[in-house]
Amino acid sequence: MQLWDRILSEEEKMLRRSVRSVVKKHIAPLAQKLDEEEGFPWEQIRSLADLGILGILTPEEYGGAAGSKLAYVLAVEEVAKGCAATALVFFTQTHGALSLLLAGSEEQKQKYLPQIASGEILGAIAITEPNAGSDAAGMATIAVRDGNEYILNGNKVFITTGDKADVITVFAKTDPDARHKGMSAFLVEKGTPGLIVGKTEKKMGVRGSSTAELIFENCRIPAENLIGLEGEGFRICMEACDYTRISTAAQALGIAQGAFDIAFQYAQERKQFGKSIYDFQAIQFMLVDMFTEITNARLLLYQSAKLIDEGSREFTMEASMAKAYCSEVAGRVTDSAVQILGGYGYIRDYQVERMMRDAKITQIYDGTSQIQRMVIARNMLKRLD
Ligand SMILES: Cc1cc2nc3c(=O)[nH]c(=O)nc-3n(C[C@H](O)[C@H](O)[C@H](O)COP(=O)(O)OP(=O)(O)OC[C@H]3O[C@@H](n4cnc5c(N)ncnc54)[C@H](O)[C@@H]3O)c2cc1C
Repeated sequence: MQLWDRILSEEEKMLRRSVRSVVKKHIAPLAQKLDEEEGFPWEQIRSLADLGILGILTPEEYGGAAGSKLAYVLAVEEVAKGCAATALVFFTQTHGALSLLLAGSEEQKQKYLPQIASGEILGAIAITEPNAGSDAAGMATIAVRDGNEYILNGNKVFITTGDKADVITVFAKTDPDARHKGMSAFLVEKGTPGLIVGKTEKKMGVRGSSTAELIFENCRIPAENLIGLEGEGFRICMEACDYTRISTAAQALGIAQGAFDIAFQYAQERKQFGKSIYDFQAIQFMLVDMFTEITNARLLLYQSAKLIDEGSREFTMEASMAKAYCSEVAGRVTDSAVQILGGYGYIRDYQVERMMRDAKITQIYDGTSQIQRMVIARNMLKRLD
């Protein structure tokens, strides 16, 4: 038994086995082609829907699996191990449901959550703007109430699944003069007049996911699409980010594990100077450091998820530590994996170069490593007095 398995329940281990088997059969074999073709993982998401895990965090009454946060982490990690882009689209689906789970009305939950959980519709979350990335409260998209409607105007950029999503959680200012207190959250459906899909980005990694610009031009939505109350958007966004950071941490951990597995096996098979390169201490020590860092990252992430499962509402610092640490481990581990494979590591067929490119984004989205450190520093002052 591995050290981290001591934290998992039998149910969670069972879920991990099921996801692992689906990833092995239906997701990992398509990862390289998906990356090359810069496609969208339709089939892969369908196989996760068939497994019943698209609504893993959603309560059963709304068609979800009511799984633990730890089960969710295991699922994202397993998918990312085989294909980081599919993991991104998978957790973006969960993120599409998050604001509803945190602050949605009963009608909104009933209308959207079962369809998101079944994969009938795709979700997305739109916060980032051309001039408001790390500083989300600096956003300029505005929503003006007009009778029974809101009119949205503004631009969002880098929205995962933005061009394909059927329902998008959009954050906008209902009071443009107030910073974070003027933010509100809305649901915008695909096809709403005034919602325009702009540029879709060409990326370094996670190429099998789509990243789109969204333009709102006098986009009218029903007033009942406001999530929570006016002015609650920043709180909803920050609470959602505590969860989204756990998702990215799990994705990063999966990428690191995937690269380690390839490098570990390769080191034992590759012969130079008449012996396997694993017999060279230089290579052994690299693999030891990779394995130790992955173990540390996993323990931090699983314990953070467990903390949430035990009902703690104070997990902002843990989520940020897990996100910053796992993503940086993924960067170092994938870099070492390419090094261990030598020239082959640089060749696409051997997969670790894809993993190295995929790892980088985990240090950027859902709050950069710098922003996570700011969050941790703020919380250290409160928690470690
Ligand atoms: C592939 C991809 C998918 C994405 N998906 C989504 C999505 O689905 N929804 C969504 O809303 N957004 C999404 N994003 C956007 C992503 O969350 C932002 O890119 C990220 O938050 C950083 O914002 P920025 O790019 O504007 O960088 P900036 O905020 O401009 O940061 C630039 C640099 O300055 C640093 N910096 C900024 N402020 C500080 C500070 N106070 N102290 C120290 N350093 C600082 C940053 O760490 C970074 O190194 C996605 C981005 C990509 C690339």
